[in-house]
Amino acid sequence: MRPAHAHIDLDALRHNYRLARSRHGGRALAVVKANAYGHGAIPCAQALADIADGYAVAFLDEALALRAAGITAPILILEGVFDAAELATAAALQLWIVVHHEEQLRMLEAAPAGISVEAWLKINSGMNRAGFAPADALPAWQRLCHCGRVSNITLMTHFARADEPHVLFTASQIDTFETATAAIPGPRSLANSAAVLGWPAAHRDWARPGILLYGANPLPGADDGLQAVMTLESRVIAVREIDAGAPLGYGARFHASRRTRVGLVAMGYADGYPRSAPDGTPVAVDGAASALIGRVSMDMLTVDLTDLPAAGPGSRVELWGPQVAINRVAQAAGTIAYELLCNVKRVGFEYH
Ligand code: PLP
Repeated sequence: MRPAHAHIDLDALRHNYRLARSRHGGRALAVVKANAYGHGAIPCAQALADIADGYAVAFLDEALALRAAGITAPILILEGVFDAAELATAAALQLWIVVHHEEQLRMLEAAPAGISVEAWLKINSGMNRAGFAPADALPAWQRLCHCGRVSNITLMTHFARADEPHVLFTASQIDTFETATAAIPGPRSLANSAAVLGWPAAHRDWARPGILLYGANPLPGADDGLQAVMTLESRVIAVREIDAGAPLGYGARFHASRRTRVGLVAMGYADGYPRSAPDGTPVAVDGAASALIGRVSMDMLTVDLTDLPAAGPGSRVELWGPQVAINRVAQAAGTIAYELLCNVKRVGFEYH
């Protein structure tokens, strides 16, 4: 069997969820959209079932898959519903919906009697992507109250720059949200992962942690007690020695500066390892630090074994996980841990 695997540590996931809730206080929706950021939405949701206050997904189908798998806790649909049929399904399955634009309000106002959903009213506090303008917060809330189709209303907003601890934009978003909702009663939800960890002023009734559940801290450099959930690993399948000056791989990007032992690893960009990773991107070989050399291919990549004489065919290579922080790989590759995790595919998934 091809040795490329993603090991998913469900105890680490539970640890991270508990950490999020204790840092934030109140309750927390575990964000498991996009197949739990590539980790497997159903096994992850099931692993949290006895401790999670609820879940958040992007769209209806993701929620339906969780309900079909036996998840009975609240599930919030972050994009809300797109038409009356989706609204009816959401109501029938007691899904919670975000209401973030006028069309969705109208849909609720036009819905037949008997429809009843819990709504999260989203206010645009500065991200300018989704949500009602601050000046429309109170009228939108009043319309939700009067439409007769909504059981409870939670007020929410989403941060654009909470992962930048010294940038005051988040403080201004909190202010904008507070001012816009001052006259509106009800629970509130502001904090994503970065705000759970770095912005106590944003802690309210509900947190919505995503990336931190999977062990990646969106804040730079903090030692946070999070545990890596996914270990992406494979094995050395062949070794070759190349002379100083010899090129390696597509485009001859890497040239050996000394006689170099090259380990060929069964993992490539078709598995989700980023092709943009440069020479020097960290890996661990049998637990020892090493580095990517040469361009990542579709099914294979190459690592430097020159200083690891004991390593050879069969050696275990960790691409990211407890020994190789995914943020280091993401930074080297010019992306973010979110994208790396969501892109993992084709490898075998193992849960423990
Ligand atoms: N809340 C909303 C509305 C989101 O869109 C997301 C993710 O994009 C999250 C929470 C979770 O964010 P993070 O993964 O940064 O914690």
